[in-house]
This record gives sequence, structure tokens and C-alpha cells, in this order.
Amino acid sequence: MTEKANVIAVMGGTFDPVHNGHLRSALELKELLALDEVHLVPCHQTPHRKQPGRTSQQRLDMLKLAVKGEEGLCIDDRELRLDQPSYSVLTLQSLRDELGDNAVICWVMGVDAFAHFTRWHQWQRILELANLVVMTRPGFELDPDSEEARLWRDLQLDPVKLEGQSQGRIIPVRLPSQLEISATYIRDQLAVKRSVRYLLPESVVDYIAENRLYAGTLA
Ligand code: ATP
Repeated sequence: MTEKANVIAVMGGTFDPVHNGHLRSALELKELLALDEVHLVPCHQTPHRKQPGRTSQQRLDMLKLAVKGEEGLCIDDRELRLDQPSYSVLTLQSLRDELGDNAVICWVMGVDAFAHFTRWHQWQRILELANLVVMTRPGFELDPDSEEARLWRDLQLDPVKLEGQSQGRIIPVRLPSQLEISATYIRDQLAVKRSVRYLLPESVVDYIAENRLYAGTLA
């Protein structure tokens, strides 16, 4: 029996809360790269930043509401099931073990995050396990003398050539919508009781209001 060669992208984050910036880019990536699935992976504890204010269960509930009915966007709670800090390399290892060597796995990040990629825990191993899909933005340039710029030059792959490329390449993508929404902005708006409607799905706005998830909260 031949192994099914899944083509997936993995978008990790705090999702405190999930918003239309995450959702729209996940959907556009799925279509642009002909992915079978985009895995949205909420982190348990993040090694790089302070703990999110909402519980893991609440962040998971919001994600589930947000993708309800959208085939191909799936919530992957593998980091929440581990009682340890979340590391991309461990998440990717677990996906690789599950999907096998032929699966095309892409880790999604913004170019601003990629600019510090070689400071990530076991970054070389990450590239052995997956490709990087890097969302570019106008006006953001990598330092041409950086290790990341060298990787960018050496490993770059056109999105149309992704088929069969299981790991090790960098795929730059420029998504048409580029919504300038952040979870920080949403939390800041809620803290001063301003509306956050149209920044995130209605079902998530309702959940936030019903459960008074953020200080201030009007939703
Ligand atoms: P915060 O404001 O709390 O830092 P955030 O909105 O940046 O949160 P995270 O939960 O940290 O979102 O999610 C990070 C993931 O989502 C990364 O892969 C990041 O590139 C992507 N992402 C975040 N905001 C957007 C956006 N507006 N458009 C596209 N992708 C986004």
C-alpha cells in the first residue's frame, strides 16, 4: 500500500483570540498552495513570550467556533495535550511521525518572525522536518548579511513547485488580503470596552461576550 502524501501547512500561535487575519490567511494559503489541510495549532506555554491570559480550553473553544463548517481548516491540539512548553520542532516531529516521510509539511510564519529564525530552538532540525512558508509584506527587508538572508537565497522555492517537496525549502508567499489585525489590538479594544465586531467571527465575538473573557469586555 502506498503512503498517502498529505500536503499540509501548520500555523502555530497563541490565538488569544483567533481573528480574521489568521483565518483569511489560512484559507488563502490552502487555496494558493493546494493544501489538503491547514492545521491551526494553539500553543500551551510559549517559550518566547508570557503566558496568554485565557485558558487553553477557552482559546481552543474560540478556534473551534471560528472554523466550524470550513473544511480543510483543522484545529490541532497536540501542543495543548503535552504538559511542557511548546516548541515548533517537537510539534513538527510529531506530525512527521504521524504523516510519514512523503507528506509535504509546511510551517507558516510571517517574514518578521523569519528574520530571527536561526535563533529558534533546533532550527536546522525544523528544516529537516518541514518547509517554511514565509508570508512577506511590502517594505519588510531581511538584513542582507544575516544567516536568514543566506537561507532565503539558497532554499527558496516557487509555490507552484511545492508538489513532492516534503521538507527543507523556503516558500515565500505574498497573500492578497494581508489583514492588519492582531490579537493584541483586539485585547486592547476590549480592555476599553470598544467593539471588536468584524475583526473576528461573530460566533467568537459572542463567546467572548458571554464568558466575559477579557477585562472590560463589550465585544
Ligand atoms: P498577538 O497580537 O497576541 O501577538 P497575533 O495576532 O500576532 O497575536 P498569534 O496568536 O501570535 O497572533 O498567531 C501567530 C500566527 O498567526 C503566526 O503564524 C502569524 O504569522 C499569524 N498571524 C497573526 N496575525 C496575522 C494576520 N493579521 N494575518 C496573517 N497572519 C497572521
